[in-house]
Amino acid sequence: MAHWIKRGASAEAKAETSRQVRDTVEEILADIEARGDDAVRELSIRFDQWDRDSYRLTDDEIQACIDTLNPQDIRDIEFAQTQVRNFARIQRDSMKDVEVETLPGVVLGHRHLPLNAAGCYVPGGKYPLLASAHMSVITAKVAGVPRVVTCAPPFQGKPAPAIVAAQAMAGADEIYCLGGIQAVAAMGIGTRSIAPVDILVGPGNAFVAEAKRQLFGRVGIDLFAGPTETLVIADEIGCDAELAATDLLGQAEHGPDSPAVLLTTSEKLARETMAEVERLLEILPTRDIARRAWDAFGEVIVAEDDAEMVRIADEIASEHVQVMTADPDYFLAHMTNYGALFLGARTNVSFGDKVIGTNHTLPTKKAARYTGGLWVGKFIKTCTYQRVLTDEASALVGEYCSRLCALEGFAGHGEQANIRVRRYGHRDVPY
Ligand code: NAD
Repeated sequence: MAHWIKRGASAEAKAETSRQVRDTVEEILADIEARGDDAVRELSIRFDQWDRDSYRLTDDEIQACIDTLNPQDIRDIEFAQTQVRNFARIQRDSMKDVEVETLPGVVLGHRHLPLNAAGCYVPGGKYPLLASAHMSVITAKVAGVPRVVTCAPPFQGKPAPAIVAAQAMAGADEIYCLGGIQAVAAMGIGTRSIAPVDILVGPGNAFVAEAKRQLFGRVGIDLFAGPTETLVIADEIGCDAELAATDLLGQAEHGPDSPAVLLTTSEKLARETMAEVERLLEILPTRDIARRAWDAFGEVIVAEDDAEMVRIADEIASEHVQVMTADPDYFLAHMTNYGALFLGARTNVSFGDKVIGTNHTLPTKKAARYTGGLWVGKFIKTCTYQRVLTDEASALVGEYCSRLCALEGFAGHGEQANIRVRRYGHRDVPY
């Protein structure tokens, strides 16, 4: 039976934070709905001390951002974007249109249709998270979305050059320097200066994730991709304390609300990792944030065996799951709830976050129970169609349909079927 050496914040404490965020977002969305651009501008000044007549960056401003980067920065961004684009293309090519004759004379099919406009949020409050530009803008473009809008907040009082360069290099059609709820709302609801999009995608802090959640229905969203979470599954054969602690803190530095959990079969590894976390927290440059996350949300769990680790990991349904055990493939074969798996010590979450090619926009807060992460499929609608080729097929399906409509008491639906039976089958249906 598993036992906890360290527990994270209580469910009540987490619920209270969520309530506060929900209320703030509700109020701000109503304000933007009522006052449009005026409210957006006031909120941008209030939360980001950022004021402009137009938040859209001009071509000259975009080029100026690109020009501030050195050639190696540009090559690194290009390398990451190539990996993301290549994998997205392979995923898109795996989505086949279908057309099949399911009964003699009955043809059913589906087509994959890209959405017309996507709004890609790139987070940039605490760090200029340029990687999110590759993940959403490139993926939307590979999916075939013609209008890709992207927003990122100002960083240290101005557009973050690396984010803007990544947005432009990824192929964005409109780039705005606008952050938080106001950015998500402007893209989702639309204002005089930003036409509304069909889907909002991309990660962000709790306010951004909640704004997307509240706008869902009026506009599509990719998934609930809030504050980063990581789960390290480890044993003494696949891992050591230094690796485990490094991988926990590498994600805890995202924000003070980022849970990092160690799940292991070894009490010894658990204790050593906790000591190593303390040692690293003395020297990590981002230790202030990582310390708060670890103290409030860090957990250490010791389980009996791999099977129990799978059960607990599926219950946690973490965004990232790093597996460093004797047999990582056991977890690939058995786990069902995770945003992304990182199998073996040679890879890690940072590779996925920045460069390797899988998408880093991933489900949080247990959303991994019902969705994977962002991918081309989120920008594509699978729309069905049907055709009936012969009179016989129309009359045959019509008779079944007529009787089923009668069972439901749907006279109008029934008559749609009956008229086909009479017209194409040349017989009456007694319903
Ligand atoms: P962000 O861009 O998400 O948020 C910054 C914006 O939040 C600011 O522009 C401001 O307008 C707004 N804001 C700040 N405080 C506010 C308040 N009190 N009320 C209303 N609005 C407020 O950048 P961030 O804050 O650095 O957060 C990035 C987040 O993205 C982190 O939590 C990180 O873990 C997460 N992330 C998640 C994934 C994923 O796939 N789930 C991937 C990468 C990053």
